[in-house]
Amino acid sequence: MIGEEKAGRILSPTTGFIAEAGFTHSLTPARNCTFGCTYCYVPTMRVFGGLKPEDWRRWGQFTTFKANAADLLRRELRPGQRIYCSPLVDPYQPAEEKRVMMPAILDALIENPPRRFVLQTRGPLILRDLERLRKIPGLRVSFSITTNREEVRRFYEPLCAPVEERWNAVRALREAGIEVYAALAPLLPCDPEELARMAAEATGRELIGDPLHVRGVKPRGATTREAAWRISARQGFTEWLDGDFQRRVVDRIRAAARECGSDFETGPGGFSRLAA
Ligand code: SF4
Repeated sequence: MIGEEKAGRILSPTTGFIAEAGFTHSLTPARNCTFGCTYCYVPTMRVFGGLKPEDWRRWGQFTTFKANAADLLRRELRPGQRIYCSPLVDPYQPAEEKRVMMPAILDALIENPPRRFVLQTRGPLILRDLERLRKIPGLRVSFSITTNREEVRRFYEPLCAPVEERWNAVRALREAGIEVYAALAPLLPCDPEELARMAAEATGRELIGDPLHVRGVKPRGATTREAAWRISARQGFTEWLDGDFQRRVVDRIRAAARECGSDFETGPGGFSRLAA
């Protein structure tokens, strides 16, 4: 289900994780995300970022586009901004294929580019807009790859593209001259060394990522949804929600990345590579 409404503004000053990473603003083209990932942190933030109770109660079941996003952006863009799109929705969510919102937003960025614009996505649909992306100076794409194991992807994010299709999108972006990073976030059950090698080879860059947020490590704020906890218990993956186990996985990914001449960093420090 796809809705629309007019927003009062489109760029929000950043706080928390994204601000710490060095971004000045975030851009969220829609409320609620039709990828509906089982672990998604966004609905656990409750009303943060303009979400409404119906969004976090029915996460992933509908989305509401900000119909005037491109017009607002033309007014709000400034040359020094570092913009992250988006901490609250995937700009290339399934509903974007029908609504076609992003090309007009990218046109506004081509006309008046900010210092940095980062698209955070897991949607191969981004390739539809390749020609526009190439015209935006300061553009980076952070492409989410959460595991190298297709059966794991199906458990936790059944509405997202298969892993192989995502690698192909990363390669296509790189071949088109786009600065593309692999965001190993959140880290789902995977083969850490294999995932690190594939990400380093596909991007030729340093890797960024984060384990699944859990209260043992992150006592406050956004956290992993109940649905992902249930899947983890059912499939025998509960250790992936344990802080000590997560730290060991991060160390293994870092070591494997370094063997490939890359590196791996988590948290705001990792994501600051996108904003720099
Ligand atoms: S793509 Fe991102 S914002 Fe959308 S449901 Fe998945 S984790 Fe949440």
